[in-house]
Amino acid sequence: MIKVSSDKELDNFRKTREGYIYSDYDGTQGSGQYNKLHSAGCTTCFTMTAEVEGIGFNKYYFHTIGEAIRWLQQNRRGKWVLCESKSDPINVPGAVLTNGQ
Ligand SMILES: [Zn+2]
Repeated sequence: MIKVSSDKELDNFRKTREGYIYSDYDGTQGSGQYNKLHSAGCTTCFTMTAEVEGIGFNKYYFHTIGEAIRWLQQNRRGKWVLCESKSDPINVPGAVLTNGQ
């Protein structure tokens, strides 16, 4: 797990289109509906910024889906969701992933 420290670093991860980017918008607070896991190649990722004003850096990068799911289950329990975009490879048919809820 890598905490993304700048937009430049985020950009490098997006360009590879490999791995997974997790937007930790709500952290451990709130419902977790905005805590969203994306494939690095998701078009949504290209509109992201690494830092949200007033919140700080809130993006994490994972090399594999297994690493991402393990971290999320341990650190965010059920308070996260998968990206729902049909353009996100995370939603390919047959990809059986849940957020543990
Ligand atoms: Zn996505």
